[in-house]
Amino acid sequence: MKNRAIDLDTFMQEVKLRNPGETEFHQAVQEVAEDIIPFVNQFPHYNHASILERMIEPDRIVSFRVSWEDDEGKIRVNRGYRVQYNSAIGPYKGGLRFHPTVNQSVLKFLGFEQVFKNSLTTLPMGGGKGGSDFDPKGKSDREVMRFCQSFMTELHKHIGPNRDVPAGDIGVGAREIGYLFGQYKRLENEFTGTLTGKSLEFGGSLIRTEATGYGTVYFMELMLNHREDSIKDKVVAISGSGNVAQYAAEKVIQLGGKVVTMSDSSGFIHDPDGIDEEKLAFIIDLKTVKRGRIEEYAKKYGCEFYQGKKPWQMACDIALPCATQNEICLQDAQTLVENGVMAIAEGANMPTYIDAIHLFHEHKILYAPGKASNAGGVAVSGLEMSQNSQRLSWSRKELDERLQTIMSRIHEQCLKYGDEGDFVDYVKGANLAGFVKVADAMLAYGVV
Ligand code: NDP
Repeated sequence: MKNRAIDLDTFMQEVKLRNPGETEFHQAVQEVAEDIIPFVNQFPHYNHASILERMIEPDRIVSFRVSWEDDEGKIRVNRGYRVQYNSAIGPYKGGLRFHPTVNQSVLKFLGFEQVFKNSLTTLPMGGGKGGSDFDPKGKSDREVMRFCQSFMTELHKHIGPNRDVPAGDIGVGAREIGYLFGQYKRLENEFTGTLTGKSLEFGGSLIRTEATGYGTVYFMELMLNHREDSIKDKVVAISGSGNVAQYAAEKVIQLGGKVVTMSDSSGFIHDPDGIDEEKLAFIIDLKTVKRGRIEEYAKKYGCEFYQGKKPWQMACDIALPCATQNEICLQDAQTLVENGVMAIAEGANMPTYIDAIHLFHEHKILYAPGKASNAGGVAVSGLEMSQNSQRLSWSRKELDERLQTIMSRIHEQCLKYGDEGDFVDYVKGANLAGFVKVADAMLAYGVV
């Protein structure tokens, strides 16, 4: 019996019933389903094979206890996860997040988005995501090491170079990847590229640290070029001050834009003179070496710090949300629009609520969803996997060119499915292009 046309409301009711309380996951599915449902109704071979229904169900979720001992000798317990979402087009690939807000809903939304993002890169990677509710903030290096070793002692059973290749995300940077990879290597007694984002001494790739931020800004430049404009002389508001935000800021500065805000979970700084390379070097040292608070920038350079506030209240031409999910609500979007924002590209995953996205679309503002604009990070992770398999290291120049080529290809795919003449719907473009490749592979496998 053939399946009937799907209706968005009925579909979302079913998703909510089957995944109770997982609000972030519902949001990520809705954002995709708004575009995919009309498409599968138009091309019923997808619908008859229930491809969308199968794609929203992860292949598997592993959840485990992580016990570790803190510096006072107290035994702590956290929860670890790996969501292996979809491996239709390659091994599972996606980051690990260590943050107290991590739960199954957050990792399912991230894993689901990762499937589409990895498909868009044109590299052979499936989608997955993992992490823990462990908070590295305020922990000593030794505590982080003991946690990572305990986490990997369970996770190593489920990953491998041809099975699942994790990377970093919020709270997981070079330090954590070092500890995780060291423990993996020890347990498996083999040296394979099972994690990406490694340091250069042990198989890491040049440009990986910069790739997500650079890629986001390359994507912004592609969107503006398509409208015969560019980043040069634009005022840019960035949120976050972690890995993605730092290198997004660096690339904006290199392309002649003026970065006026950066933030962390305590608030944001506004520097109307612009953050230049020297000031950015201060932020990178502050956040990655000293692990301090962004407020210290305001004290050093004599500008305003807005405690507990988000940067979107400041006038800007371009907004680059690079901190975390759901940081642009409808009211923030209204303020941005009233202040004349012309383009938004997401460095973070799902930083914008659906009603805020709809508002940007109503005003025909260029808006790039993270699954397209922040795919540069996973793309260079894919290139790290290739270099590890070949036991080769490519040059910085070669990798930067490959990153730019991949971002252009993603942009072209968005145009293919999202160009509506006077306006490009990048959400629709990214969703449909990401979907088709994975869906066609799933069709080829039969009912699995
Ligand atoms: P980092 O841990 O390096 O930095 C995260 C930044 O966001 C910090 O400034 C942090 O502030 C801030 N932040 C975290 N949670 C909150 C919150 N609840 N409210 C306000 N600010 C917050 O992470 P990344 O830069 O790697 O990741 C940032 C985003 O980019 C995430 O959405 C991630 O999923 C996405 N991303 C990352 C990729 C990568 O390659 N790293 C690839 C693709 C997407 P504080 O210092 O106070 O914690």
